[in-house]
Amino acid sequence: MSEIKLEENIDILPRGKYLQIAVEIEALDNLIIRSTSSEEVLTFHYEKLGNRFIIPWRKIKGRLRRYVMEKQRSLGIFEECHLKDGLCLQCPSCFMFGATGETNKNADPEYKSNVNNSYNLASRILGETFISVRTVKEILDYTANAVDEKTFTTGQALMTKIFVPAGEKFRGVITLRDPTPEIVSIIIDNLQRMARLGAETRDWGKVKTTILGFIYSDREEISSMDLLESMPKRLESDVSKLKLPPVDKAYKKLAVSVQKMLKDEGLIKKQLYSE
Ligand SMILES: [Zn+2]
Repeated sequence: MSEIKLEENIDILPRGKYLQIAVEIEALDNLIIRSTSSEEVLTFHYEKLGNRFIIPWRKIKGRLRRYVMEKQRSLGIFEECHLKDGLCLQCPSCFMFGATGETNKNADPEYKSNVNNSYNLASRILGETFISVRTVKEILDYTANAVDEKTFTTGQALMTKIFVPAGEKFRGVITLRDPTPEIVSIIIDNLQRMARLGAETRDWGKVKTTILGFIYSDREEISSMDLLESMPKRLESDVSKLKLPPVDKAYKKLAVSVQKMLKDEGLIKKQLYSE
C-alpha cells in the first residue's frame, strides 16, 4: 500500500496541489428546496445527462462551514468567531473557507485588534454544483408569491419550490487546495457529520453524506459531471493512505500553524492561540 504524501505545512503562497474528494449526498426525507432568488437554478438541463436536480455549491459550502465552526468552538478554538460579519480572519475555519476585511465588521474586539492591517484569506475549499444521479422525469416546481403569514398578502419576494423525493442521490466534487493532513482530516470529519443541508431548516432537510473516493494531483482532474457519466478509474477509496491525524489534534495543530504563519507574515500582532 503506497502512502500519499500531502504537504506538511501550510503556506501563504499557492503550491499547485489539489486533493479532489468525490462526494455523494443522499436525501433521507422528501426534500423541499426553496429558493427566494429567481436566478438560483435548482434543476438544470444538461446536454448529455438530461434534466437533473442540482444543489448549488454555495448551499453545501455554507452548511459545511457551519459544521466546521461548531466543532472548532467545541474544542475551545476561537469560540467567538461567527458568520454574521464576525469572522476573526485568523482561525482554522477562516483560513480554510476564506474571509475578507468586509466580513469581520462585528468581530470580537480581541480578534479585531489583533489584525494589523486589513487582509483577505482566499478560500482553499472549492466546489461545484452537485448533480442528481437520476434524470428528473417531470420537474415539479412552481413559482409563487410568498404569502405573508399575518396578513395573507403576497407582496413579498417570488419563491420557487421544488420537490425532491427521498432516496434521491447527488454527486459532486470538493477540491482542497494545497491541503495538509490536518485540513483533510477536518473536512472529511465534517463532511461525514453533515446530516442536514441548507442554512435554514426550511430549505432542505436530512441527508446522508458518503465519500466515494479522492484524487491527489497537481491539477484539478475530475468534475461533478465525471462522477455521473462513469466513475473515474483513478479514484482512490482508501482514506488510510492519507495518514490523517485525529480530528481534535488536527484542529489544534492547524490553529497553531495559522497563527504562526499570519504572525510571521506580519498580518497579526500576536499569537492568540498556541499549544
Ligand atoms: Zn475565524
